Amino acid sequence: MAGAAAGDRIPVMIPWLGKAEADAAAEAVLSGWVAQGPRVARFEEEFAARVGARHAVAVSSCTTALHLALVACGIGPGDEVIVPSFSFIATANAVRYVGATPVFADVDLETGNLTPETVEPVVTDRTRAVMLVHQGGMPADVDAMRTLCIRHGLELVEDAACAIGSEYLGKPVGAGSAIAAWSFHPRKLLTTGEGGMLTLDREDWAGRLRRLREHAMDLSAAARHASSGPTFESYLETGFNYRMTDIQAAVGLVQLEKLAAMVERRRQLADRYYELLADIPGLTPVRDPEYGRSNFQSFWVLLDPARFPGGSRDATLHRLAAAGVSARRGIMASHLEPAYEGTDHVPLPNTERLTRDSLILPLFHALTEAQQEHVVDVLRKPADDAA
Ligand SMILES: *Cc1c(COP(=O)(O)O)cnc(C)c1O
Repeated sequence: MAGAAAGDRIPVMIPWLGKAEADAAAEAVLSGWVAQGPRVARFEEEFAARVGARHAVAVSSCTTALHLALVACGIGPGDEVIVPSFSFIATANAVRYVGATPVFADVDLETGNLTPETVEPVVTDRTRAVMLVHQGGMPADVDAMRTLCIRHGLELVEDAACAIGSEYLGKPVGAGSAIAAWSFHPRKLLTTGEGGMLTLDREDWAGRLRRLREHAMDLSAAARHASSGPTFESYLETGFNYRMTDIQAAVGLVQLEKLAAMVERRRQLADRYYELLADIPGLTPVRDPEYGRSNFQSFWVLLDPARFPGGSRDATLHRLAAAGVSARRGIMASHLEPAYEGTDHVPLPNTERLTRDSLILPLFHALTEAQQEHVVDVLRKPADDAA
């Protein structure tokens, strides 16, 4: 098959948005209440119910959610937080926002996630928390990490940015978590444009986080609005403006209704990739671990350059791009970015292997069978040519 014509480019992701989301946003605008209000409250309730959490606190992004999670944990200067380098850079940056030091640990080669074996060697007297990322929607082994955290007296913060709809031991990721942060950026499954959420177990933390996102006011805007007399709020500590708008929440409520269908479609497409890719040597697609199910927010394949006839990952990305396919390099490694240059870290061989040799294939609800075959044909061609 020749390269796809311009305009036929296959993107890596298209959010699943439609008229229902547009109508919901319009209704919020026309209601006159556009900042954080009743729709945000309803989105929080429905989101908490969906993931099986006691409390949900909506915020402006997953990055701000991670920042607030570390504030809630009481982490600050002099403290260390263990994070995977193999993650979007916001994971490590959030640790710096509270003045603490991110300490990189390596990840499992198959799931791309931290494990007790990779975390244990970097625990020190100053470690206060582990930031466990469910990378690309691939569930991490939360119980194993919780056991390690309890043994060392550490907080466990889950970066579930990519993991809405993923499952761990038969339950949604986030069920029973101490605290988890979620993203509604369009590159994730469920989108509100920008947006984020914290889900958590502790009521006292939930109350404080609701205030912190709103300048640490002791009276919410909704409470002031509901009051008939004058109100006099006070500001209890240094807070933030990390609010979500009601327009975003209106879109989120519609998206939540589609979540099951989003996950189901992505898993069907992943299954089809497994079939189509099976006979290409030196190419290993990411798979569910035995304890859980991914939502396949990112469907990555790891190349073995010694066996894959198509050469390096970068050469493969160029070949795909020339054929109209917008694949992406694999997940980044934060320790290789200028922002983290000179940071001390243990050897991170799996992180470096994954970030160098993996690529993310297009996967979105509207991806057609023909498009998927085109992607795989481009990947297979060097093997066919060599045969
Ligand atoms: C996308 C992402 C974030 C940041 O989410 P935003 O909502 O864009 O702030 C954080 N962590 C991980 C693992 C992500 O994939």
